[in-house]
Amino acid sequence: MAKYTTRACADCGIRLPQPEMFQREDFVRVGNSKSGISIFTFLGALFGRKDSARAIGKWLWNSNQRNYNRKKTLWVCGECSGHKNTKIKKPSLIGKFFKFIFKLIFIITVLMAFLFLLVVFFGQ
Ligand SMILES: [Zn+2]
Repeated sequence: MAKYTTRACADCGIRLPQPEMFQREDFVRVGNSKSGISIFTFLGALFGRKDSARAIGKWLWNSNQRNYNRKKTLWVCGECSGHKNTKIKKPSLIGKFFKFIFKLIFIITVLMAFLFLLVVFFGQ
């Protein structure tokens, strides 16, 4: 039997062999481009440091892109990705089916009782 790399689900943390996992693309926010700027950078620019001036220039131009999203590939299990029905979902589906049947039986019973009453009162 071939052994696969196990992957941890990004949602529930379950560890499964890679073929049982699904890839999901997510966007993660990464740090801003201003982080390289400090008061010393400004002081440096004031004292004529070219690299400081360049850093400030970059910082000014990138001010609109303070936070940007980076695409990240996550591994999620079949249940979390929605590819597989969960063990919890299956009984609830059966439950829904039974609820529907009971409702149907109830409606039929009420209708029969109503028809019976109609026959009793107006049948003669
Ligand atoms: Zn999961």
